[in-house]
Amino acid sequence: MNEMKPLRVVIAGGGTAGWMTAAAMGRTLGRTIDLTLVESDAIGTVGVGESTIPPLATFNRLLNINEAEFMRATEATFKLGILFDNWKTPDSRYFHSFGLTGKDHWSAGFQHFWLHGLQNGHTAPYDDYCLELVAALQGKFAHLPDNRLNYAYQLDATRFAKFLRQMAEGDGTKRIEGKIARVELNPESGHIAALHLEAGQRIEGDLFIDCTGFRALLIGEALHVGYDDWTHWLPCDAAIAVQTENVGPALPYTRAMAHDAGWQWRIPLQHRTGNGIVYCSRYLTREAALERLLGNLEGQVITEPNNLRFTTGARRRQWHRNCVSIGLSSGFMEPLEATSIHLIQRSILRLIRMLPAGEISERDVAEFNNQQDQDMEQIRDFLILHYNVTERRDSPFWRHCASMPIPDSLTQKIELFRETGRVFRKNEELFAENSWVQVMMGQGIMPRTYHPIAGKLSPDELDRLLGMIRENVSKTVASLPRHADYVADFCHAKDVNPAYA
Ligand code: FAD
Repeated sequence: MNEMKPLRVVIAGGGTAGWMTAAAMGRTLGRTIDLTLVESDAIGTVGVGESTIPPLATFNRLLNINEAEFMRATEATFKLGILFDNWKTPDSRYFHSFGLTGKDHWSAGFQHFWLHGLQNGHTAPYDDYCLELVAALQGKFAHLPDNRLNYAYQLDATRFAKFLRQMAEGDGTKRIEGKIARVELNPESGHIAALHLEAGQRIEGDLFIDCTGFRALLIGEALHVGYDDWTHWLPCDAAIAVQTENVGPALPYTRAMAHDAGWQWRIPLQHRTGNGIVYCSRYLTREAALERLLGNLEGQVITEPNNLRFTTGARRRQWHRNCVSIGLSSGFMEPLEATSIHLIQRSILRLIRMLPAGEISERDVAEFNNQQDQDMEQIRDFLILHYNVTERRDSPFWRHCASMPIPDSLTQKIELFRETGRVFRKNEELFAENSWVQVMMGQGIMPRTYHPIAGKLSPDELDRLLGMIRENVSKTVASLPRHADYVADFCHAKDVNPAYA
């Protein structure tokens, strides 16, 4: 058999999306592909994207990345979930944690047993049954056997791209610095033939990955694939980011604090804190947003404000002809649940699974697009939930969110939970039952009934079950070190390789 010629893959853009793609493809596919990445130092990257979710740990393991080295390089901390302030009402708070709450039965999630307990005089909050949640709020963390504590990372986006670049170049990716001035199409097939740089270079390829961020130079500008605008469901369209000095030990969670026209994030890293305000420009001016952000920071500001505009939505086809869009070029649904880097990861792994063997199969393209759409729509619904299900009516923004029409798929999920306490996860959906239950209850939905199986437990059995879970959680948390101490031992960034700094 003849050896196949390596597939020439050209990645346009070197932000988180570009370098994650290069690192993953290079490490997984080795010599079967010939990888080139083009990026422009003059344009730079979006410079945000610092809170992640647990599957990133799996991505790192797939790529054989040493966790301590990765965390040192990116000044990362561990993340056990997100603390939501002021979402249900202006003075409310709830936590969306990673991991599980309580103990499920195969026929019914733990919430059914908890609800039964509630009706029978048990007063302990649902939160007390979740290890990750209790550990987070006490500022504790350690790796536990069997990955019993589910976690993700809070990391420095710029350093993350540098870390991946080092790895990808080590595995053979060729990096070209320069500005793409023109995308050349094959006049017969309409496929992309080459990228032309301002300096005159022409870069040919078989498969092009558009990682040019919001610009979407290849998939949007050159191939004219449209974009579905979801601002009628996800109305925030602007953000301002600033970094501050740390004022205390880094906490193992991200904060999402709602305000009257959006929300504000706080992401603690080892060396600094990432902050930003996300807002809807119809209800808040940029000047007012900046003032609000600067008025609600904990440490000294160390960077100039980074102003960002976006349109929430999704690219209509994320793979079109010989171009796949990954990262912001494929859509953006706002950063509330830190799903963007995860979507990059999903797209990369999916593309590797569907890598063309010679000619591109239109069946692969259709399958890829279908699976991507499903991912985006499921995440979209989860995000809309935070805005639409609220008791807040104290500003035009919240009145708009509470009264906006929502997708039928989300209505079904909400009403099913309200009526029966049930949540079903479909087709590898990212957010599992625990996430939906925590956020739905946190936003104010209390189920009217619960599964009859919970009522099978006698009062004594119920006492024992609930008591045992709570005790396990509190004993385990009591045995954990402080998160900041654990980070200092495990991956203190003072030992960082200067190449990433
Ligand atoms: P970019 O970082 O914009 O990179 C684009 C690349 O293309 C750059 O290298 C640029 O130089 C290059 N390029 C563009 N045009 C040209 C050209 N003409 N020639 C050559 N090169 C070119 N995600 C999370 O998972 N968690 C978060 O907490 C989170 N927070 C966010 C907060 C905000 C306000 C925003 C807007 C996004 C956030 N995201 C978050 C999303 C996250 O930032 C992105 O998914 C991630 O950074 C990937 O971006 P990218 O690589 O697609 O684009």
